[in-house]
Amino acid sequence: MKELKELLRQTEFSRDDLTRLISLEAQDDREALYRAAYAVKARTVGRVAYFRGLIEFSNICTKDCLYCGIRKSHRGVRRFESTKDEILRLAKWVWENRYGSVVLQSGERTDPKFVGFIEDVLRGMKELSCGELGITLCLGEQTEETYRRWFDAGAHRYLLRIEESNPALYARFHPQDGNHVWEVRDRCLTALKKIGYQAGTGVMIGLPGQTAENLADDILYYRRKGIDMIGMGPYIVASGTPMGDAVEASGGNTAEEKRRRFVLGLNMIAATRLALPTVNIAATTALQGLDPRGRELGLRAGANVLMPIVTEPRHRPDYQLYDDKPCVEDTSEECLACVTGRVRWAGDEPGFGSWGDSRHWYERRGRSPEPGREAGEGIAGTLRKPRRVIEIRCAAAPREELQTVGK
Ligand code: SF4
Repeated sequence: MKELKELLRQTEFSRDDLTRLISLEAQDDREALYRAAYAVKARTVGRVAYFRGLIEFSNICTKDCLYCGIRKSHRGVRRFESTKDEILRLAKWVWENRYGSVVLQSGERTDPKFVGFIEDVLRGMKELSCGELGITLCLGEQTEETYRRWFDAGAHRYLLRIEESNPALYARFHPQDGNHVWEVRDRCLTALKKIGYQAGTGVMIGLPGQTAENLADDILYYRRKGIDMIGMGPYIVASGTPMGDAVEASGGNTAEEKRRRFVLGLNMIAATRLALPTVNIAATTALQGLDPRGRELGLRAGANVLMPIVTEPRHRPDYQLYDDKPCVEDTSEECLACVTGRVRWAGDEPGFGSWGDSRHWYERRGRSPEPGREAGEGIAGTLRKPRRVIEIRCAAAPREELQTVGK
């Protein structure tokens, strides 16, 4: 077997290589893995953590994923839906505090009223920020036409987690009711790329019965699919769900088991960074759900994106995808100070005011970010060279950098 040192110097990784990296347990070996991944991150996308202010605007969902705390059949959930004005107020806060981007997330709905509502909100966000806010959507499976409408209204990144790249494993964690079909999800990712989105996906890590080989296959799926951004995190039990209750009942939710899932989560980030050096990788809140320093350690293992929650505080307790979700009681201002400190602790710089687009996305389009902008295209750069022209009549107070709009 190869020396670990030798393996960590490679630039191409086989399924066996990835399986070995993901399976590392000894502290020294894992530290060597994280150091190598961090060095690759520093060299390829820079030591910068980009922010996406996360607005969870509705927990109404038409789906029933067996692990999810807001699944349709979960009777214990108090349902909510934010208004357009509420969402725009939160987006304005994100813009004014220079997070650079928002993520708009909710349960999955495909009805025409919802599709039109999102379109309206997107145009509103572009208008209030003079086109400066980068927008990622995380709104599940939709038709190609819907994706296109939202793209034309201003969204440019879309996160659709495949959850499991292995269709058989996916089927184990989703109801077989015709409404949860792996192939449909996979086709949605193809459609998103075709339209021009930066396409994001990810998986749950540490599921019952999931092997290190399955996780290695997940990374190979990201590569095969040409994914630009990864949002993956350790599985955390949601009480009152079929899967969460089964895991609890079988004794699979011990402190030791949680630790195992956390380590797997970090190893996956590091292995993904080594195998796909230029993608954006999020250090997800789920990491922090299992370890108070989870997100910083995620950055140290190669992640370069954070998604601080800016959801309306009164709705946060009702958007619990899993138990003991962190940051539920913090205000957005507290989160801002907290994540900035976490980024600096990790040795990175906060990427304020930048979209932090995926370098991988530039590469597959045959373009490079402007020199000096490292992993992300900054706002000023974005506005000098708009991706596409969105007509904006900006009523917001002009700031110096807005003078570049449309130039
Ligand atoms: S994981 Fe997403 S689609 Fe599935 S039930 Fe939860 S919110 Fe709905």
